[in-house]
Amino acid sequence: MAKRDYYEILGVAKNASDDDIKKAYRKLAMKFHPDRNQGEDAKKAEEKFKEVKEAYEMLSDAQKRAAYDQYGHAGVDPNMGGRGGAGPEGFGGFAEAFGDIFGDIFGGAAGGRRGGGQQVYRGSDLSYAMEISLEEAAAGKETQIRIPSWDGCETCHGSGAKPGTSPKTCPTCSGSGTVHLRQGFFSIQQTCPHCHGNGKIIPEPCPTCNGAGKIKRQKTLEVKIPAGINEGMRIRSAGNGEPGTNGGPPGDLYIEIRIKQHEIFERDGDDLHCTVPVSMTTAALGGTIEVPTLGAKAEIELPEGTQHGKTFRLRGKGIKGIRSSYPGDLYAHITVETPVKLTEHQRKLMKELDESFRKAGDRHSPNAKSWTDRVKDLFK
Ligand SMILES: [Zn+2]
Ligand SMILES: [Zn+2]
Repeated sequence: MAKRDYYEILGVAKNASDDDIKKAYRKLAMKFHPDRNQGEDAKKAEEKFKEVKEAYEMLSDAQKRAAYDQYGHAGVDPNMGGRGGAGPEGFGGFAEAFGDIFGDIFGGAAGGRRGGGQQVYRGSDLSYAMEISLEEAAAGKETQIRIPSWDGCETCHGSGAKPGTSPKTCPTCSGSGTVHLRQGFFSIQQTCPHCHGNGKIIPEPCPTCNGAGKIKRQKTLEVKIPAGINEGMRIRSAGNGEPGTNGGPPGDLYIEIRIKQHEIFERDGDDLHCTVPVSMTTAALGGTIEVPTLGAKAEIELPEGTQHGKTFRLRGKGIKGIRSSYPGDLYAHITVETPVKLTEHQRKLMKELDESFRKAGDRHSPNAKSWTDRVKDLFK
């Protein structure tokens, strides 16, 4: 059977604009759409619909249109479709061609044929950012948070309709919440664009809830934060998200943990790091120094001649992570302080000390000795 000319099928001129082609297609697609043609005419309408759709797919694609203008049907074989396999019955091609005009077609259509259940949706997940201290993260915490919750609207008893009125079955989908498009052997199911899957429309919305049937409130939720939790971890509270639609399950609530910057400690996984300032004389003479741990104190025996930057590890004084068997360690990084604001007497002592050091050369300065050697090498 000879194929009809694409322009003729759509009833447009050869020089028709893209817009004219789209308009013509829209009109014909509605006229021949399977949902609007039942009984004896159905078969014929389906043939027409396919023909119209193929013509539109070819002429709405600039490249294919050019090929068609030049070579006719030989230039474009819809069954060999390149981009997305745009054959007349191609699933992707179909959805693609429909995309933007789908709503228009169904907005005014007389409606589907099926009854059945409404579209059921799971509620959205909610997320809640919680900031806690490092101590709380290490020890765990039981706390309460305020989260949104939804109550059924008392004015309309959840129907969403103004008192005295009632929701009506959606005429587009006959209450099923979905619409089916038959296309050759294929059937595509989509959420009804008119009622958005609810199956019902509300002609006069309830003034209290604006037709939602539910009212947003707040509720208190007990939250148990496990010991050892770390920055960015999430705690899931099942079912505490937004409620579902048409009896669908609610979403979940995710509590995302943020840990405040600590005055003393930096956390690295299960380990803690802190800087401990030590006086020059203590570093030189050695002695006991106090080191803070998380929520307690510890002591370190500083050996004589401790250098600046020396790190001491306090085993097990870190944090026991959620999935760890042992707590991490605490690293105390020593910074030796140069004395400031010296009194006359201290300055005198310092000078005496300095003289004594100089007489001994590099003997008392382990780093300076190797450093001087390296500098000498540099200028050889
Ligand atoms: Zn209401
Ligand atoms: Zn509907």
